[in-house]
Order: sequence, then C-alpha cells, then structure tokens
Amino acid sequence: MGEIWKVGEIMAVGYGLLIDYEFCSGCQTCEVACKEEHDLPVGKWGIRVLDDGPWQKNDVDDEGKNFNWNKIPVPTDLCDLCADRVKAGKDPSCVHHCQAFVMKFGTIEELAAELTKKPKQVLWVPRG
Ligand code: SF4
Ligand code: SF4
Repeated sequence: MGEIWKVGEIMAVGYGLLIDYEFCSGCQTCEVACKEEHDLPVGKWGIRVLDDGPWQKNDVDDEGKNFNWNKIPVPTDLCDLCADRVKAGKDPSCVHHCQAFVMKFGTIEELAAELTKKPKQVLWVPRG
C-alpha cells in the first residue's frame, strides 16, 4: 500500500472505493458498521444506501416484467476512507462488514482497472 497521505493523516489521497452495486442487497450493514466505527451520532452517516426504484423500464414491450431497482451505497462527506483502520493494515469498516463483497478499497489506479471488467460499478473518491 502506498504512503500518499495528506498532512494531518486524516484523509487518504489517491485511494477510493469501488462499489459493485449490482450485488448490493440493501441490508444497510455498511451504514451501521461505519456509524459504529466512527461513533457517529443520530442523523449523521459516513455512507448511505440509496434506493432507486422499483419502476418499470418499458411499459410497452416487457408486459411489466422488467423493473429498475438498484440499491446504491454512496459514501458521504464524512467518509475518511477509515484512515485509522487502513493505516493499521485493515480494510475500511464497510468493506470488512459487507457480506456481499460489494465494496473494495484500493488505489484509484487499481480500482479503475477493476472498473473496466464489469458494468454496474461506481468508483468513489473522497474530496482530498
Ligand atoms: S454494500 Fe453490502 S453491507 Fe452495504 S447495503 Fe449493500 S450488501 Fe449491505
Ligand atoms: S470507508 Fe470507512 S468512513 Fe468511509 S464509508 Fe466506509 S466505513 Fe464509512
């Protein structure tokens, strides 16, 4: 793992999360794991699982069989990529606790290479 850390060692620069939301069940474990890790109070979150759907994709041709319904985890402005955990050699808490292996932590270059391998993924990078 590289040593590209901002002064104050609060935020990783050059790192991000690859979110393979195709396999997200919407269980919200990542939300809870992040809140516990950072002791966030009620109403504040490091990641939210957004819900897009269900809505019918094609009213004419699919006889109502095909729906858009995606659960999409999106880190918030409070996400620091679990800098303390990462510097201790651990995965970020959301990555560690997601049983569907939706979240992946790494350098932007590594994750961008992974991004080319399948659709329905999002590469998220924090404000440095
Ligand atoms: S990313 Fe993983 S932990 Fe979070 S809601 Fe989706 S399946 Fe659950
Ligand atoms: S990387 Fe850490 S701070 Fe960011 S969303 Fe995941 S658990 Fe929360």
